[in-house]
Amino acid sequence: MTFATLGLNPAILKALADSGYTQATTVQMQTIPVALEGRDLLVSSQTGSGKTAAFMLPAIHRFASAATQPATKTPNQMRQSAQSHGHRPRFQAAQPKMLVLAPTRELALQVTAATEKYAAQLRQVKAVAILGGMPYPKQMQLLARNPQILVATPGRLIDHLNSGKIDFSQLEVLVLDEADRMLDMGFIEDIEKIIAATPATRQTMLFSATLDGMVGQMAQKITRNAHVIKIAGGSSKHENIQQRLHFVDDLAHKNRLLDYLLRDVSIDQCVVFTATKRDADVIADRLNIAGFSAAALHGDMQQSARNRTLTAMRSGQVRVLVATDVAARGIDVPTISHVINYDLPKSPEDYVHRIGRTGRAGRNGLAISLVNHAENFSVRSIERFTKQQIPVEIIVGHEPKRTTSTAARKPAWGNGKRVGNRVDSTAAPKRAGFSRPDAPRKGAFKGPRSGARQQFSDR
Ligand code: AMP
Repeated sequence: MTFATLGLNPAILKALADSGYTQATTVQMQTIPVALEGRDLLVSSQTGSGKTAAFMLPAIHRFASAATQPATKTPNQMRQSAQSHGHRPRFQAAQPKMLVLAPTRELALQVTAATEKYAAQLRQVKAVAILGGMPYPKQMQLLARNPQILVATPGRLIDHLNSGKIDFSQLEVLVLDEADRMLDMGFIEDIEKIIAATPATRQTMLFSATLDGMVGQMAQKITRNAHVIKIAGGSSKHENIQQRLHFVDDLAHKNRLLDYLLRDVSIDQCVVFTATKRDADVIADRLNIAGFSAAALHGDMQQSARNRTLTAMRSGQVRVLVATDVAARGIDVPTISHVINYDLPKSPEDYVHRIGRTGRAGRNGLAISLVNHAENFSVRSIERFTKQQIPVEIIVGHEPKRTTSTAARKPAWGNGKRVGNRVDSTAAPKRAGFSRPDAPRKGAFKGPRSGARQQFSDR
């Protein structure tokens, strides 16, 4: 389905054509017509499915149409303009028409950038990001422009709300993006407080990997007669992302394997996930010494440094991003061809989010996990969650000394039927499906520097 058939404003259609979008994605096809009617929406959809445009295009369409209508002011607006004699007083609170709440700064910045792209032909539609880590004076300047669209992380927004810098009395559209992540991160009270400051007449759209549990309960409370769209559940299959795992004996083996994998010429760009911020730094340093263009991304870094790193990733200057879960949540760089789980994530949901950093915008991706034998139980809970078995592969010359029993690798769900093209580590070694690059370069990474980490301990 084309965007023209959805009846969107011609200025939006032009911006979409300039962005190279020809067809609406499934979530866009299903969401946009309902959102244009002004109905509340609960949408469960896979990360990378095009959900930003699904909620942003109808909102931009609404603001573009309002801008061409003769101005009709609400009583509140008339009172304010009478008081101000047509001038905005210096400290008048910003009165946005749309608020998008997002769990992380990266996602909020991405949504803002996407909005600017979609509204590129509409000078009157402005979006601003309000994030933790950004200097307050800069944010005051942005708010003074009184943008229609605010994209914010909940914590910093609460600060501005408490200090009277933002007034939600004119809010028309509220979006909760990755609502499940926001609840996981403990934002429930902030979200409730923010919603309580918005008019009951607003349109509410909630996007989440799952609509079950706490998210479902919150959705019930904050929406009215919502239309429910389920594109894919939280255990989404990510069919365009190939998955596999390699068992490792110890840390040295893991590092050798990482080095080998990163020399694969088919890797365009790669995100390597670590369990801790410190490891993200240490591994990025080691990889740089080994000749890879690597950079760390984690929550201890200043926001400006995080932004610089992401810009370097987007421009291709950085090939390997070594990141922790929180920092990497929401990263959308279509050229990320591989994800490597150097450490397994804490939860199966995080696994799904991690591998969703690749295979973006309809491309294919490969997600590889490096797994200690003792972590087989974590693999099984991931497999139970995704209802997919992760094939085990062995790379000739990098075989694990230990084997993991076939019994322990039986499918973790259903009736025990084998799924996929599994090569168990107890079976004959099979060469993994990618080209062996050149022999390691001189000075190549040879495992941890002495004293860097003695134990096979990832947390
Ligand atoms: P999102 O799920 O909104 O983060 O979008 C994931 C990626 O898909 C982003 O890189 C978008 O620019 C891209 N995208 C979204 N909608 C479309 C579309 N209709 N056609 C092509 N690319 C799209």
